[in-house]
Amino acid sequence: MAKKKYVNTYMAVASALGLQYDTENNVLYGQRDGYPVILYPHDPVDQPYLLTVQVAAKGAGGAYLTQGQFQELQKVSRLSKCAQNGNVITCMVSDGIGRRGSQQGLTANAVDGLARLTAFLHENGYTPCCSVCGKEDMVSAFQVEGSYYHLCRDCETSMHQRFAGVKPKKENVVAGIVGALLGSLLGVLCIMLLSQLGYVAALSGVVMAVGVLKGYELLGGKLSKKGIAICVVIMLFMTYLGDRLDWAILFYREGGGAESGYNVFECYRMVPLLISKGIIDMTEYIGNMMYIYAFLLLGAIPTIRKRVKEKQKEGVMIKLV
Ligand SMILES: [Zn+2]
Repeated sequence: MAKKKYVNTYMAVASALGLQYDTENNVLYGQRDGYPVILYPHDPVDQPYLLTVQVAAKGAGGAYLTQGQFQELQKVSRLSKCAQNGNVITCMVSDGIGRRGSQQGLTANAVDGLARLTAFLHENGYTPCCSVCGKEDMVSAFQVEGSYYHLCRDCETSMHQRFAGVKPKKENVVAGIVGALLGSLLGVLCIMLLSQLGYVAALSGVVMAVGVLKGYELLGGKLSKKGIAICVVIMLFMTYLGDRLDWAILFYREGGGAESGYNVFECYRMVPLLISKGIIDMTEYIGNMMYIYAFLLLGAIPTIRKRVKEKQKEGVMIKLV
């Protein structure tokens, strides 16, 4: 799904190119000068006016286009990042002015760019084909696990079978928790290191979030909703622990803890006492912790959202019709 204002833009581009626009998957597809094409925003949130163009075609005898040839094409068109990967030719097309966004610019560049691209492919003897096996057959556009393909009937069938045969991974919660705890140690280390170096602990929250989620998934096999909930609890707790340990070390080193013969763990236990006696300023203690928690959220939310999105696409094959 795209934001409404972009939907209109993509629709305009699609109609200028004579392509279909699938609003749900936010992708343009169809035929252009005999070649099967797919266009989709490279990064719908940050760069909505930059489209990836994908064409399924192959050179005679499996030829590859050279970088020099692509550079020639880029010189005369507004296309960029032209490349060939197997039977897939990809390019980027933008509105020419970047983030501000111009529907007219994007439409004009896409129309011109695609005309030049298909002419270029034609000149070089490229024929439309299936993007996987290269067969010159009727192909349809598909979204498979978030990527796009032009598939012939055979490849469509075999891909369907592949997904049908894949058993979903089992989740091992206990191993996941161990992984999450190990990952959280990175976050704790980061909180302490950065703070000892005198930096604000902004990065720590992000490291904590990513470390815990990755750790859980690596050892637990997969990250379910339950896993995410467990991870959030571990993040919150370990952030608290890391911050308190940081204060304990500060007291141990600079507050007279070591001189009085306490070790770091004793200092850790004494933190509430130190706060109640005013040796650690309560406002500063709470303020600092809130600060780290804010950055933890900042790191955790996009990481979790990205992961959930990826998960939704796992094993999903959609025919664009
Ligand atoms: Zn095929």
